[in-house]
Amino acid sequence: MTKTLVIGAGGVGSVAVHKMAMLPDIFTDITLASRRQFKCDEIAGSVLERTGVSIKTARIDADDADATARLIQACGAKLVVNLALPYQDLSIMDACLMAGADYLDTANYEPPEEAKFEYSWQWAYQEKFAKQGLMALLGSGFDPGVTNVFTAYTKKYLIADMRTLDILDCNGGDHGQHFATNFNPEINIREVTAPSRHWQDKKWIETPALTTKQNFDFPEVGARNMYLMYHEELESLVTHFPEIERARFWMTFGDAYLKHLEVLQNVGMTSIEPVIYEGQEIIPLQFLKAVLPNPGDLGKTTTGKTCIGTIISGSDNGQDKTAYIYNICDHEACFKEVGSQAVSYTTGVPAMIGAAMMLGGKWRGEGVFNMEQFDPDPFMDMLNQHGLPWQYVMLEKPLAF
Ligand code: NDP
Repeated sequence: MTKTLVIGAGGVGSVAVHKMAMLPDIFTDITLASRRQFKCDEIAGSVLERTGVSIKTARIDADDADATARLIQACGAKLVVNLALPYQDLSIMDACLMAGADYLDTANYEPPEEAKFEYSWQWAYQEKFAKQGLMALLGSGFDPGVTNVFTAYTKKYLIADMRTLDILDCNGGDHGQHFATNFNPEINIREVTAPSRHWQDKKWIETPALTTKQNFDFPEVGARNMYLMYHEELESLVTHFPEIERARFWMTFGDAYLKHLEVLQNVGMTSIEPVIYEGQEIIPLQFLKAVLPNPGDLGKTTTGKTCIGTIISGSDNGQDKTAYIYNICDHEACFKEVGSQAVSYTTGVPAMIGAAMMLGGKWRGEGVFNMEQFDPDPFMDMLNQHGLPWQYVMLEKPLAF
């Protein structure tokens, strides 16, 4: 009997528990806990209706490590899958250490008061997890997550000596709203408005947010403008593959999204500095989140596809090569299957697969790990079997930009 506790009943948590319930041999007992229990109960109702599987629900404030440790013990969980927000990563890791459970997440820890996007805080838990014989798997979403596994696969089978890495994240979907974010608006806007950073000649180069643009013709989506951004997997990938000389992350944005974002930024609505409003301290970005559409509700109206992948150049057996591995995911198909749009789906499915790797012992270690440190094969197989099929093409030339 393997007991799993999933924390966070948002868009990603919902997909993950639906997909776990579809694999009862691996996930024999699932509890979903979150800040508001009614959200867990709604998801549990949908899981029962779609899969016939009953999952348990609980209320938890995961900022409280002691209470979280008590919940882990009460439900006997061997593994905690953290799909709450990056702010809760450390308190949930502490709770896992107290209760003796393994840990998995999809986003690196963020202190609420500054946007940093770095692994230092979580990598500092290496010894604590190793000492207790426990495992923490960081960033088991799509990006970070699948993109790390694609890189490990490229190294293993296609290009032994990798020199450049480009991660290309395209959401070619249309949700029919003037302005909405694909996942938690607060985290998404913090990420998009942060200065861009990329790895070049063994150092980080910083440029202002959203200033470097390229047009790329994405398979099954078409030509889209994509912008250079910082993304956390760049840090772990250049650490674990030190041969990579240049690593960049690109994300597509439509003109309407950028226009709204520019205005919101200009009027101060994206700030994480507290302001006093009618005697009360509020954080503008958190207020903005409250008035924006809930990404979990966008599934009903979203059409189109996502295309996320890695383009890696280097040499193999003395020959220069470039490989493009990608997944295409259809928003409407995801909604039909689990009631969520493709951005939640492409994150929730890899969270389930990472959990399956750990529970089944295919990925095992003591300490804190990033995805690229394990054998990509069993993970890549499960992507094909559970809704995120991938393919690769060898390109004739490296990217021209
Ligand atoms: P949502 O905002 O939809 O869901 C977050 C959930 O966490 C909510 O249900 C929220 O509860 C709950 N929560 C927040 N604070 C606490 C707390 N203190 N204790 C318990 N529960 C809490 O976010 P998403 O589902 O869109 O994203 C989930 C995670 O996935 C985020 O960390 C995000 O950064 C990450 N992500 C990773 C991606 C990847 O590819 N690696 C891509 C997309 C997202 P309530 O409803 O009560 O507010």
